[in-house]
Amino acid sequence: MSRRGASVTLLVALTVLFTSAAKGCEKPRDTQPKKSSVVCHSTSSVKCWPTLTVYVDDRTGDAWPVREQVQKWDRLLKLHFLYGPCHRGAGCVKVVERKMGDTGVGATTTYACGSCGIIDDTVVVAVNTTYGDSPAEVRKRTICHELGHAAGKTAHNAATCMEPDVSIPNGSPNPSSKDAAVINAVYA
Ligand SMILES: [Zn+2]
Repeated sequence: MSRRGASVTLLVALTVLFTSAAKGCEKPRDTQPKKSSVVCHSTSSVKCWPTLTVYVDDRTGDAWPVREQVQKWDRLLKLHFLYGPCHRGAGCVKVVERKMGDTGVGATTTYACGSCGIIDDTVVVAVNTTYGDSPAEVRKRTICHELGHAAGKTAHNAATCMEPDVSIPNGSPNPSSKDAAVINAVYA
């Protein structure tokens, strides 16, 4: 008997909804930005957060290593990527469990974007509990991948956890400094 997840192709997905309700995230050059505001230019592969502090509100069970992966991303990112309940005035990522069935989709991240980047309070990572018994490394890679999207990276990378098929052991299941550098570059 083989464990579910060991042999299936487990894809992870991202949906970015573009809205025309653009919020200003760019400050005039001659104005000193407030501590919480960000000067950032979204690109086709990275979307900006409007604040540099983002809380990851984990509503999943112990099977999903959300705290561990948030802390690993935080060490690499310019964003303060913090594990804990969402706070007013800071960015918010909700991580939830959803029984999506045996569809081959391990998890999804969705968010809405305006012309300047991510619109806060729209970011949801949903893990598919149908694959809750997949190997620990696959769950780790899944969370790493979705948090990379939640941090703003829309593009995939075949050599890191941002590989779209998380069942392929391509490199480390942990956040890579290469992916983090791409995200950090938009806040330069
Ligand atoms: Zn993806």
